[in-house]
Amino acid sequence: MDARPNSPEARDIRYHMHGYTNARKHQETGPLVIEKGDGVYVEDIAGNRYIEAMAGLWSVAVGFSEKRLVEAATRQMSKLPFYHDFGSKAHSPLIDLAEKLVQMAPVPMSKAYFTNSGSEANDTAIKMIWYRSNALGQPARKKIISRKRGYHGVTIASASLTGLPNNHLSFDLPIANILHTSSTPHHWREAQPGESEEQFSARLADELEKLILAEGPETIAAFIGEPIMGAGGVIVPPAGYWEKIQAVLSKYGMLLVADEVICGFGRTGEMFGSQTFGIKPDIMVLSKQISSSYLPISALLINDKVFEPIADESDRIGTFGHGFTGGGHPVAAAVALENIKVIEERDLVGNARKVGAHLQARLRKLASHPLVGEVRGVGLIAAVELVADKATKVPWGKPAALGALVNGFLQQNGVISRNMGDAIAFCPPLIITEAQIDALVDAFERSLDAALPQVHPQGG
Ligand code: PMP
Repeated sequence: MDARPNSPEARDIRYHMHGYTNARKHQETGPLVIEKGDGVYVEDIAGNRYIEAMAGLWSVAVGFSEKRLVEAATRQMSKLPFYHDFGSKAHSPLIDLAEKLVQMAPVPMSKAYFTNSGSEANDTAIKMIWYRSNALGQPARKKIISRKRGYHGVTIASASLTGLPNNHLSFDLPIANILHTSSTPHHWREAQPGESEEQFSARLADELEKLILAEGPETIAAFIGEPIMGAGGVIVPPAGYWEKIQAVLSKYGMLLVADEVICGFGRTGEMFGSQTFGIKPDIMVLSKQISSSYLPISALLINDKVFEPIADESDRIGTFGHGFTGGGHPVAAAVALENIKVIEERDLVGNARKVGAHLQARLRKLASHPLVGEVRGVGLIAAVELVADKATKVPWGKPAALGALVNGFLQQNGVISRNMGDAIAFCPPLIITEAQIDALVDAFERSLDAALPQVHPQGG
């Protein structure tokens, strides 16, 4: 870190409060200031180059230097820099994007609704679900079931859906009407001895049904889940999980919301995670890779079961009293459209499948490393969970200590990743090549070896 009083690092400490950062510790450690992007690489202010193995925040599908997106933004900025969709107004980028998204959806969808972030989109989903229950004359049907370790955002309602302690502690959350399942669908960590993945999935579906019955089915409106849990640690669902969960939801007439904010637009080797896992959602929540995060934009896709009662209710009241100034922003929508074109024309979904298989195979070769507990992932999303003792799966000292140690070595070795607790996540841009995957995994292997003597000073 540059310690001069007016260095960017010093000014960051002086003036900027960070998201998802220990605010006190940051005053000592300071920031990593990123200055430039080039393909899968970013460069810091001191000129160090890193493979961005998280695609920023799971989001930069086309890499950090895609000129087509810059040109799309410039063109739209010159033509119509802002317009909105309130009071029946519209503009071409928004109409084109809505049509494109509805046509791309893997299940029949009726309408696209635009928001600016994943959190706003999930808040909107909750409001639509509540509004719909009232429209159907079922005002008691307001509870939404989410999952422990699911991640759905940080606004008051979406943070309530999120099932992670840091998003609730000291924020006085969750709010009422949001329930969490008691088990996370993580077979390696949570299955009973000898329980197969199918058996484990059946037990989780049974737990869900018991929760619904205990609460009263007439009070439950919807279930929300990510096809693969991302920020909760890249938890890949066990075999049969989504099929069994959906059978329970259908039995009680509950809506299903698929939070595709990370999985959407190719991450799992299909265009949507819902295709990879046979999910048939009523609402799909899209963000991040929709525009490769070059500009903020998010969207909900809703089917007729959701749209039709909402349309009736808005007619009764006089308007659907919800909308964001920036929702469907023309420049962001133009960038999203161009981004989706790039993903399709360059077959980045196929690349996620092919290069993703290479990533998964290379990481699985590390399974015998003394610090590796589990390797998991699909396509170009993966995590390696680190343990001090492979047999008992216990962490090294405090939870997240080993994850942070290895993540620090990784950064020194030229790779930016993120430790979700003791799981190191990998979610690189979809344009990554096999050679770049090799460089990434080689650096990870060196980082594991660098941590080993600290964890097992006696060897072994
Ligand atoms: N849902 C999922 C699955 C996410 O991963 C995220 C962000 N990591 C969000 C919602 C929230 O998105 P945002 O940060 O844009 O509010």
